Formats: sequence, structure tokens, C-alpha cells
Amino acid sequence: MGNPILVTQSSMPTIEEYINEISSIWDTKWLTNMGNIHKNFEKQLINYLGVPNITLFTNGHLALYIAIKSLELTGEVITTPFTFVSTTHAIVQNGLTPVFCDINHHDYTIDVSKLENLITEKTSAIIPVHVYGNPCDVVKIDKIAKKYNLKVIYDAAHAFGVTLNDKGIGCFGDVSMFSFHATKVFHTIEGGALTFSDKRYVDKFNNLKNFGIISPDDVIEVGINAKMNEFQAAMGICNLRHIDEQIILRKKIVERYYERFHNIKGLKLINFNQNIKSNYAYFPVIFEEKIFGNTRNNIFENLAKENIFTRKYFYPLTNNLECYKGLFNVDETPIAKYIADRVLTLPLYADLSLYDVDNICNIILKK
Ligand SMILES: *Cc1c(COP(=O)(O)O)cnc(C)c1O
Repeated sequence: MGNPILVTQSSMPTIEEYINEISSIWDTKWLTNMGNIHKNFEKQLINYLGVPNITLFTNGHLALYIAIKSLELTGEVITTPFTFVSTTHAIVQNGLTPVFCDINHHDYTIDVSKLENLITEKTSAIIPVHVYGNPCDVVKIDKIAKKYNLKVIYDAAHAFGVTLNDKGIGCFGDVSMFSFHATKVFHTIEGGALTFSDKRYVDKFNNLKNFGIISPDDVIEVGINAKMNEFQAAMGICNLRHIDEQIILRKKIVERYYERFHNIKGLKLINFNQNIKSNYAYFPVIFEEKIFGNTRNNIFENLAKENIFTRKYFYPLTNNLECYKGLFNVDETPIAKYIADRVLTLPLYADLSLYDVDNICNIILKK
């Protein structure tokens, strides 16, 4: 058997390109704390993402944690359970109560028609997720947030480079969080960012990610350490040079999966919103019925036997995790439960060959 095929594979610049980018660090001996490479990378990202402001972090989770802390939220926060654990943990770690809204059947983002019913006197914010890079209904969410005076923080971890009606996805809501983890479309090994319109947040975010220190004698916040270092920023600068080619290669793979699966009864594919530029971050398939006698779990195992490793992403739902046992009820989010029980996310990365894609499809469609 050949090398295993994993659900994703990190994109890498050539080693020469990376060495070239980090070589100045040996002159400056400046390794972290907002150095020149970091500053340069910030500028490039503002340009690429088409956002007014950005602050970089050592990972996406701490960025989200700090966003929530900075907005001084209280009581309840409405979110969805069909996400990576980070979203729910960041709410709970800030001493807030997550209230779970169901997702819609169409693109698996928050079902905006169910939002208003969940708003109480204690609600202070909405934290929706652009699942698989598919933008939420940002217009409706904005309307509801204004009506009830709620903050909106988007978990845009999946949505690097996505635009909606030619506008960068990081421009919506009060704040958006991007993850640059090694498994994401774009990465800085580990890393993350917050993007936002209100310039007043720049200092707040920068202080909180550096222990609240504003000068050698002044510490004005009980902050944490969540700074991005120069080696991470250098990886980001290298990867940003290649991101557009990478997304084109991902698109070809997604098109091949569509070609092979679009008319198979019982297989539901994701609907990409018409007005967006996608980043082709994930290829989720919903096994609504058995495919030639096989369930989602059978197919997961059949692929694993052939050294192909898919992910049940997102399963389990975050309102069904062991660490939150007894606190939430999955029956209150039936569509999320339905999707989580049937979803399989298939291998997708720029270097995946169409030969391998065909092989994966053949195993799934084997009679
Ligand atoms: C990856 C991810 C995060 C967390 O990002 P890290 O950079 O790994 O800390 C948060 N939310 C979602 C939806 C993610 O996929």
C-alpha cells in the first residue's frame, strides 16, 4: 500500500523560500513581540483579506478567546454546536453560557429563522460559524443584532480568502476570527487573527495578547500571552505568495468530487452560495441513505482499510461533548444532529492527485 492519504496535508513553501524569509532573524535576534516580519505580514494580510484592521495571534483559539473578552460580554451567547470545539470552549472559558441555535439544512451555518426565539434579556452576543468556509446569512444576522443591541463575532476559522459580493468575509460583524493552523487552507504553522472595523479594538487586542503590558511600568489589563512569533509570520508570508494557486488546485479537486457524486441517490453535497468566492476548504458529504448497502460509518472504515483517512467533521456536536455532559440537549438542534450523524469530510488539499480522488470515489461507490 502507498502512503496514507489524510483528510488534509499542510501546504509548504520550498525550504529555500522559508530560509530566505527567516534569515534576517539571525541578524536582528528579534524572535517575537511584533517584530518586522510580523508587521510586514500584518500589512500583507490587510491587503489580501480586504479588511480595515487586523491583529495577529499565536493561534485562532486564543484570538477568539480575546475577542470575546474584549467585547465585555455577559450572560448568554447564541452559537451553533456544529463546529470545532474551540468555538464553544472560548465562550465557556469567558464565564459565559452558550445557547445553541440549530443550523440550516442548506449550508450548515446558523439557521437565522430560529435566532430570535433564543434571545433573552441575558443575551449579549451571537457567535456564528462560517462552516466549511460558507458564509452565514450576514445580512439577517446584522439586522437581528442591531434590533436587540447584540455584538456579533464570526468564527471565520474556515473562511480565509472567502469573499461575499466581492467584500472580504472578515468585514462583517464586530469582529471575525481566522485560524492559521497547519490543517487550514492557509497557515502559519499555528496562528490566528482578528479582523474588525472599529479601530479602537487595535490597542485592546494588542494589550490583551501581551499580558496587558503597555510600557515597562504599566500593566493595565489582566491579559494573557497570545503573540505570533517571527517564524510563524515568515511562514505566513511564504504561504501567502502561493495561496491563489493552492485554491485553484483545490477547486479542481472539488469539481472532480462533484462530477463523480452529483447524481448519486442518497448522497447530499454541500451547496456553495452563489455570490461568494470560495476557498474550497473542505468537501463534506452527507450520507442520507445507505450507498450500495453501506452507511457513513461503513464507508469511513472501508476507506481506512485502504489507507485513506476521512473525518466525521463535525461529530460529535459540541453540545454533546463529554466535558459538557448534562448541560445541553442535542434534541434542541435536530438538524445539526442529523448532519453530524451522517457527514464525512473527504480528503482535500492542493497536492492531492485526481488519480487519488478517483480512487476515493471508486471505494465509496463500490457495489
Ligand atoms: C481550527 C478552528 C478553530 C481554532 O483555531 P486554532 O488555530 O486551531 O486554535 C476555531 N474554530 C473552528 C471552526 C476551527 O475549525
